[in-house]
Amino acid sequence: MVVVVDVETTAQIAVLPANTSPKIQETPRVKPGRFLCTNEGLLAISPGPGRVIAMIDPVPARSSFHQSVSKYFDRAAALTNYPPGLLDQVKSCDSVYRIKFPVKDDDGNTVVVVGYRAQHSHHRLPCKGGIRFSLDVTQDEVVALAALMTYKCALVGLPFGGAKGGVCIDPRSSSPGFRERVTRRYTAELVKKMFIGPAVDVPAPDYGTGEQEMAWIADTYRAMNFNELHPYACVTGKPLELHGIPGRREATGLGVFFGIRECVSHEDDMADLGLTTGIEGKSVIVQGLGNVGFHAANFLYEAGARIVGIAELGGGVYDAAGLDFPGVVAHFNEHRTLAGFQAARQFENPSTTLEMPCDILIPAALENQITAQNAGRIQAKIVAEAANGPVDFEGDDILTDRGILVIPDLYLNAGGVTVSYFEWLKNLSHVSFDRMNSGYIESSKERMLTAIEGLTGKSLDPIQRALVTAGPKEIDFVKSALSDTMALSYHKLRDIWKTKDMPDLRTAAFYFGIDRVARSHMAHGVFP
Ligand code: NAD
Repeated sequence: MVVVVDVETTAQIAVLPANTSPKIQETPRVKPGRFLCTNEGLLAISPGPGRVIAMIDPVPARSSFHQSVSKYFDRAAALTNYPPGLLDQVKSCDSVYRIKFPVKDDDGNTVVVVGYRAQHSHHRLPCKGGIRFSLDVTQDEVVALAALMTYKCALVGLPFGGAKGGVCIDPRSSSPGFRERVTRRYTAELVKKMFIGPAVDVPAPDYGTGEQEMAWIADTYRAMNFNELHPYACVTGKPLELHGIPGRREATGLGVFFGIRECVSHEDDMADLGLTTGIEGKSVIVQGLGNVGFHAANFLYEAGARIVGIAELGGGVYDAAGLDFPGVVAHFNEHRTLAGFQAARQFENPSTTLEMPCDILIPAALENQITAQNAGRIQAKIVAEAANGPVDFEGDDILTDRGILVIPDLYLNAGGVTVSYFEWLKNLSHVSFDRMNSGYIESSKERMLTAIEGLTGKSLDPIQRALVTAGPKEIDFVKSALSDTMALSYHKLRDIWKTKDMPDLRTAAFYFGIDRVARSHMAHGVFP
């Protein structure tokens, strides 16, 4: 059991079940604005009775997530010929910054918030990785996520070391004002320790954060570094008004779509699963209708897939014939829950949705969603990891033994960081990708067309001509470069899987990432 105690009076306030985690949302008899101590750590309660909005000092190493990442690493590392010392260097997390800072809640009370930034690898700089706002954030989780970023960037050929940040607040129950104060103060603390900056560490959105938080980070960084030439390159995923890049918002979901499209284009792999090639007609279940889940599902839906199941916090819906996807999205956007949506099947427990029949299951919420507990009941043919770490090590073994193809997170959700790379380059060069060559491409096409018309004696009407000769926009460059990155990376990955006789795509992905980082370390040598 968890005993909740008022730290000021030491009076016992509540006794909660043993499995109570920081997800505690309602603790009766709790006064607003008070700090509480539990054996799960300190909880700050504010602004209403019983609402936990920030978690201070969560217990580290609660989950098996870090262990899973470590085991995945070890399995792939054992297939390399690198010496143990070098592999240790590749595996270790270079720096972790843990910070507690005070913030005023909406009633003017002081709340102490805990945040982290982990820089897993400095073999390439800057480090790159998202910032997560969640009551479940721990140092252990942030370090594991940062490690995934290192191998992910190496896999898709981005010149970054991996990083990740996290702040223990509940972004959904806290007000925009509170989130802004937390984001700005957290940024200021990172600036003070040089844990953010265009050349050292460049955050981006992750679970619970988006363009608004990135705008606050950019503005705070700029205010504290007024003489810097590239202040907006300190963070990516910014709104367009603050020098963001078109396509970043949907980039991770679009990358998931491109990755799945590549995977299902291989006839022999699909035949092994009893599937035909192509997206059209494939049945899909998605867990999480946030940034990544929504966009991935939407691109698949537009390409002709049937979205048969969706799981969200508080419930799930399923219809083997295909859900009214736009209808579900409209309902979710209005009510922030799927409860009340009329579907063939409705589940109170969202996890049940994952166990329904489908061709492709896309976990796009959080880690450790498919474990030894439920992996045996998954009916999908392909599990496409849009979230980071949604399948743990034991769950992964069960899925692979059952012949289910897992497309690993290291590869599949790399679209976000890929387009972040483009945004960072744009911010460093202070020019958009279309500005320098769109007009040139357009006039080249005009000349080519005029020559063809002269040779053939036939001409296009003005509307057709304008369509054919139009110069590319910045979004066109972003999408085609993302599509190329995902296609080339998949072929590389599949090639390693098949030619090096790897047990699965995930091991191939770790193997490739480890190899790239190890080579970089060897080229640098060891200082001093
Ligand atoms: P988000 O906050 O926009 O959305 C997550 C959604 O998942 C929310 O709607 C939430 O209600 C839902 N959810 C949470 N727990 C759930 C559960 N148990 N069952 C069903 N739904 C649940 O977050 P996001 O940015 O979409 O990130 C999702 C995942 O993708 C995370 O693992 C993140 O690390 C990863 N990721 C995100 C990006 C990015 O660019 N945002 C890039 C790469 C990887």
